[in-house]
Amino acid sequence: MAVFSSPSFAEHNLVQFCNDPASGLRAIIAVHDTSLGPACGGCRMWPYETEEDALRDVLRLSRGMSLKNAMAGLALGGGKTVIIGDPKKDKSEALFRALGRFVEKIGGDYITAEDVGTTVEDIETIGKETSYVAGLKHGGAASGDPSPMTAYGVFVGIRAAVKHKLGRDDLAGLRVAVQGLGHVGHTLCRHLADAGAKLVVTDIDADSVRRVVGDCGAEATDSEAIYGADVDIFAPCALGGGINDDTLPRLKASIVAGCANNQLAEPRHDAALRDRGILYAPDYVINGGGIINVAGEILGDYHRDAAMKRIGGIYDTLLEIFREADAEGRPTGEISDTIAFRRIEAGRAARAQASKKVA
Ligand code: NAD
Repeated sequence: MAVFSSPSFAEHNLVQFCNDPASGLRAIIAVHDTSLGPACGGCRMWPYETEEDALRDVLRLSRGMSLKNAMAGLALGGGKTVIIGDPKKDKSEALFRALGRFVEKIGGDYITAEDVGTTVEDIETIGKETSYVAGLKHGGAASGDPSPMTAYGVFVGIRAAVKHKLGRDDLAGLRVAVQGLGHVGHTLCRHLADAGAKLVVTDIDADSVRRVVGDCGAEATDSEAIYGADVDIFAPCALGGGINDDTLPRLKASIVAGCANNQLAEPRHDAALRDRGILYAPDYVINGGGIINVAGEILGDYHRDAAMKRIGGIYDTLLEIFREADAEGRPTGEISDTIAFRRIEAGRAARAQASKKVA
């Protein structure tokens, strides 16, 4: 299986394969870039069909974290972990502690946190072996589960997209399709329902659907029908790659805005959405609420109100991207990438300058 020649490798600093037969741990840690600070990104646990799928996922996700952290204005680089395994069957204290020892070996260039398939408790178990963990419930600057903050940021971002595309300040009566009703999707549904939006929802887990239908008065649909739902906004909140050649032509929504990472199957789907007149809120910008929250903990000065205020800034960041995209006739994801890479490059240049002075 090729690593360096993988299209997703894209300038990664480090890729570490973690194998611990005693606990059954098989994981990959990818550190994309540390120009702006230590790489920070969550730990995903998923029953990948192939090792190649896991590698591709971790490489794309860690690159996305570099862009996300840069766009959120944080002094953090991008990294990610994937554990190959079923979070419903394969978790154990020994497995997470083994991962903690691998994270510790990286020596602070990578800090891990919660993601799909892992919980704050799992991260606390990893934290028994390393201090390079964040998003904890306990401890001096603990910031807790990042998911509610991510959901709040996505809600703010949806309001920005509605303002730009539909010229409205409120969501009352707008129809939103939410795909994926986990930690973030469920809370997002509550915000949307409270704001008067009408929800069409789906999840592959029937209990999650039942909960949101009960909590938020949502209408349930199946996981294929969600793409063609008659809605104003499509909110991908499950896994990546949901926007692809097959699904894109079916979308009736004029806005795509949700929490999932890597929503576009390929970069060209950014332009394809624009060509269809669909406004795309770049995933790593709109879903930055969780990492903004966690960053306070990493820097040791976590304050919830300050984090909420900063997450509220996602509204203006997105409006700027949307306006620049219109002014330049370019897709929103491309505009966002340009800004983020410019910031990373500036961080790299500043570091090089600083190390020259020391030498
Ligand atoms: P989660 O595991 O709690 O929820 C994901 C949900 O999606 C699950 O309920 C799962 O059953 C469902 N799902 C999976 N495949 C599906 C499909 N094909 N159709 C419908 N539902 C499907 O994860 P989460 O923490 O809510 O994160 C959701 C997404 O947001 C992920 O892509 C994650 O990387 C991203 N994200 C999360 C955070 C955070 O703070 N948790 C921050 C940034 C980005």
